[in-house]
Amino acid sequence: MNAMEREYKLFGKNMEKGDEQQVVADLSHIREKERKPLEGEPEKSPDELRFISRLNDYIQQEFKELGIQESRNIEPNQIHLLPRDVFERHFGERIPAFHSTTGDSIYAVKDRLSKEILYDTLVHEAIHAVSLHKFHVDKEKRKVSEYRTGYQTRNPSRKKWHFSGFSEALTEKFARDIYNKHLDALIEEFGVSEKEPQLPMVYDRFMQIVDTIVKRVAERKGEAETSVWQRFKRGLITGEMLHLRDVEETYGGGSLRVLAALDALSGDVLPELIDKVDEYFTTDDIEKRKSIAHEILSGSDLRRYNSQSKSS
Ligand SMILES: [Zn+2]
Repeated sequence: MNAMEREYKLFGKNMEKGDEQQVVADLSHIREKERKPLEGEPEKSPDELRFISRLNDYIQQEFKELGIQESRNIEPNQIHLLPRDVFERHFGERIPAFHSTTGDSIYAVKDRLSKEILYDTLVHEAIHAVSLHKFHVDKEKRKVSEYRTGYQTRNPSRKKWHFSGFSEALTEKFARDIYNKHLDALIEEFGVSEKEPQLPMVYDRFMQIVDTIVKRVAERKGEAETSVWQRFKRGLITGEMLHLRDVEETYGGGSLRVLAALDALSGDVLPELIDKVDEYFTTDDIEKRKSIAHEILSGSDLRRYNSQSKSS
């Protein structure tokens, strides 16, 4: 493992030293495979390579500002910039880009998005790549799966994800921070326009909710919004979550269950769910909040909400 390689964070029942080594070997194997070019993937242009190098500089600068000592570099072969037909042949047409945590690679269509959206998207995916990654090991079933990326967490015993909308909102807000900070350089070097990148509406809605929460937490703590925002960003990278107690202190016990339910992964119920979560974090009416929580939560999430909201 060279100095640039990241240490894998693993957890699981009855894990022993030997198991860990095996899992790390398996994950490294997947990662190595995902760093090879896909069939039909063109070589990167000098511009694209230069952008990846700038991207690393931008991220390193953010790490420094957030007081994060570790450096996490993204290698050019971790980013697959694909023509539309090649991307869609491999991954379909539903999304134009994604980051694979298990393979630690980024895949993006390079000729379907405007320049502004493409570069913003690459910054976004790069943040996923340098975020906290944690894996769950099921020793009995000999299975390793993604457990956490940023704040997004999967309950290993069920297929359910938590905090995916929250994590996506923070990732995109973080990406916009970086994009806007370096806009002059992006215009000059890469020919983006001054227009703000227009991503799907759903991201704007997620980000509005996070903005509301940051504002309310800052008010309650008598703190600048920027310092609350810094903690949220840091947590994406370091995995620190204790500061989310501020959300519970601001909105009452159980409110993190509601935030966790904001789902970015399943498309069906989304707009309605976003409206309700938005209302939950905007209204001052405690009864209204309770009734929203009961509408959107079910099963063990609702049970946990009920016990947490009682004890606060
Ligand atoms: Zn994302």
